[in-house]
Amino acid sequence: MPDRPIYLDCHATTPVDQRVLDTMMPYFSEYFGNPGSSLHQYGWEAEAAVKRSREALARGINATPEEIIFTSGATEANNLAIKGVAEAYFNQGRHIVTAQSEHSAVLDPCRYLEKLGFEVTYLPVQSNGLVEVQAIAAALREDTILVSVMAANNEIGVLQPLAEIGALCHGRRVVFHTDAAQALGKIPLDVQAMKIDLMSMTAHKVYGPKGIGALYIRRRQPRVQLAPQLHGGGQERGLRSGTLYPPQIVGFAKAVELAIAEMSAESERLGSLRDRLWQQLQTLSGIYLNGHSTQRLPGNLNISVAGVDGRALLLGLRSVVALSSGSACSTHKNEPSHVLKALGQPDKLAYASLRFGLGRFNTSADIDQVAGAVVTTVEALRQAQPTPMTPSEKKRTSKIKQFRS
Ligand SMILES: *Cc1c(COP(=O)(O)O)cnc(C)c1O
Repeated sequence: MPDRPIYLDCHATTPVDQRVLDTMMPYFSEYFGNPGSSLHQYGWEAEAAVKRSREALARGINATPEEIIFTSGATEANNLAIKGVAEAYFNQGRHIVTAQSEHSAVLDPCRYLEKLGFEVTYLPVQSNGLVEVQAIAAALREDTILVSVMAANNEIGVLQPLAEIGALCHGRRVVFHTDAAQALGKIPLDVQAMKIDLMSMTAHKVYGPKGIGALYIRRRQPRVQLAPQLHGGGQERGLRSGTLYPPQIVGFAKAVELAIAEMSAESERLGSLRDRLWQQLQTLSGIYLNGHSTQRLPGNLNISVAGVDGRALLLGLRSVVALSSGSACSTHKNEPSHVLKALGQPDKLAYASLRFGLGRFNTSADIDQVAGAVVTTVEALRQAQPTPMTPSEKKRTSKIKQFRS
C-alpha cells in the first residue's frame, strides 16, 4: 500500500482492533445461526454469544443485561430514545430540553418532534462548551418529559456534567438521556452513579465494527417507558425488531471490554500526546483552543487558526494527515459548525478550525510530523495569501487584531 496520511480523525470513526476482529470471525460462517432460532444448536450457539456480549456490555456501564437493547449504532439509539420517550409520555407532557451543541442525531429527531407538536428548548452552552446545570434546571417545566445532553462532544471533546444533570432530572422526575457515542470506553460511565435513564452507544468510535450499537434503558427506579420505532419479529423484548447480528455484537462487546480494561493507561498516553501536539502548535501566533481546557476527552484537540482559509489549510495538509474541520457530517458545507457557533464567540467563526482526534494507533512520531506540517502550512498560507478582503472580512480582521493584543 502506498504511504497514506496519518489518521487523526478518530471522532469520525476508528479502525477495528485486530483482537476485536479475531473474536468476530467465527460468527460469520461457523457459528452463523440466528439467535432467535430456539429449536436447534445453531440458534443456541449464536444466542449464547449474544447473551455473553450483552452481559459484558452491561457490566461495563453498571447496568443489567435486560437493560441493553442492540441497535445499528448511536443514530438509531438516539432516535429510539427520543422518539420512543416522546411517544410513550406524550400524555404527561410534550416538552423536551436539549443543547445547541448536540450531534445532529439528537437535534434532528427533536426538530422532527417539533413538527408533530412537541416543544423543544435548545439550551445555549457556555463559551467553554459546557451546559450550565442551572440553565437546565431553569428550563424544566411541569410538562417536560425528557432532557437529552451528550456525554462527550464529537467536535470539541468537552465532557458534560452527567452526574449533576442526572441528579437534577431524577429529582424532578424527568427522563434523562445521554448520547455517549464518543464517551464509551474513553471515560468511566456508570448509569447508576450518574442516574442516567437512557444511554446511546456505538462500537465504531471505540475500535469495534460499524453498524452496531446499543441503547441502555433503565428498568428500575424508575422503569423507563419506550415506544418501539421498528416493528416486526419482536426481538429485543419488542423494542427493536430485526434479526440480531452476532459477529457485530460479539465485536462490540469485545471492543468495549478492551477499551475499559486499558482506559486509564490509554487516557494518560493520549492526553500526553494531545498536550504535545498543542504545545508544538503554539509556536504559531493566532491559534486558539476550542472547548474547556481540561474537562475534555484525552484524544481531542480542536483549534481555531486566525488569518488562513480553512479549505486551503485542509488541502495543504491532506497528504500528511487525515483530519476534519468541524464535524464529518457537516464538512460538505463550507461554514462553521453548529458546535463552534454554539460557543458564541463570533470572532472565532471567521477562523479556520481543525479537529484532531487522536487514537490507539497514533505515536509520538505521528504527532511531531503533523505538528510540523500544520505549522509550516499555516505559515506558508499566511505569507502567500493576501486574499482580497471584503469589507466585512476587513472588519473581522481588525477584530482579530484587537483580540490578539
Ligand atoms: C458518531 C456519533 C453518532 C452517530 O453514531 P453512529 O453509530 O455512526 O450512528 C452520534 N452521536 C455522536 C456524539 C457521535 O459522535
